[in-house]
Amino acid sequence: MGTQASVKAIDPRELGEMGTQIILGNTYHLSIRPGLEIIQAAGDLHHFMNWHLPILTDSGGFQVFSLAKIRKIRAHGVEFRSHLDGSLLFLGPREAMEVQRILGSDIAMVFDECPAHNCTAEVAKEAVERTITWAKVCREQPRATGQVAFGIVQGGVDATLRERCARELVAMDFEGYAVGGVSVGEPEPEMMRAVELAEPFLPAEKPRYAMGLGTPAQMVELVARGIDMFDCVLPTRVARNGTAFTYKGTVSIKAGFNKADFRPIEEGCGCYACKNFTRAYLRHLLNVDEILGLRMLSVHNSFMYMKVMQDIRDHIAAGTFKEFREMFARTYVPSQKVLAGRQGHILSTLPVSEDAAAI
Ligand SMILES: [Zn+2]
Repeated sequence: MGTQASVKAIDPRELGEMGTQIILGNTYHLSIRPGLEIIQAAGDLHHFMNWHLPILTDSGGFQVFSLAKIRKIRAHGVEFRSHLDGSLLFLGPREAMEVQRILGSDIAMVFDECPAHNCTAEVAKEAVERTITWAKVCREQPRATGQVAFGIVQGGVDATLRERCARELVAMDFEGYAVGGVSVGEPEPEMMRAVELAEPFLPAEKPRYAMGLGTPAQMVELVARGIDMFDCVLPTRVARNGTAFTYKGTVSIKAGFNKADFRPIEEGCGCYACKNFTRAYLRHLLNVDEILGLRMLSVHNSFMYMKVMQDIRDHIAAGTFKEFREMFARTYVPSQKVLAGRQGHILSTLPVSEDAAAI
């Protein structure tokens, strides 16, 4: 996840070493800062950030609907105010594809309407209709050399809407398809349901992408439901809170119980942080705000995510994915928030244990 043309705290050399195949850049953020003219002057986003493997850019739709302060949805796009300086901006399917053409990403996402997960049935229906109309416009726009485009299925947890949206997009013959409207604050069962409702209508021979997801355990479960691609801010975001992902769940490296723990973050992990530093040392770095601490947690967490996906690929190839999935579900302890979502509880009513992650 390279929101601002950088995977937070990790450089391209480290990303390469951990086997990163693709990163994501945000159309909305990059259009505002540094501005398209700067990236265009550098050549494209690959040259600007010195990343020469594939880049996927989102369309900006998600940020417009989640970050922008004031907005008016029009037939041809959305009027909104910048979350930084309040200036009036406009983004629609034509503009989103033009920005992505200039950024020169390898995968461009269509401009969709992503409503809140608890919106009314009427709002969800309108969002699907606009998403379909805008996808048609996106499909016809010029692209950068070699750039492919993915459609985004909306429709919340309404089976009819998900099917309608998926079928319409598949008829437009995109190179891949994403399930959108997830990772918008919905509880886990709703997220799984959204994917289950869309997946049967998306061609298995094309990439299927769950946007903005998820935890390691959720990725395993989503692969079991037919998903091939993910993007997620969690590995670097929780690192900045002093939290590490492990095969047993999250652990707060900042916590007092690591004060004199001279083991690595995770025994057997092949990442640079685990091969070179102890929990006690990393905890110390985090507690005195040394940048190396959050950098090393970011390296470990990103490596761990890559490793989970590699494990998944290896087990699928070996025909043992079912056993791997069961093992993962048994050993990975979900966060309080995920558990609360499964039980239909409200997070704030639950006690939070010392090593619970803030996710
Ligand atoms: Zn590690």
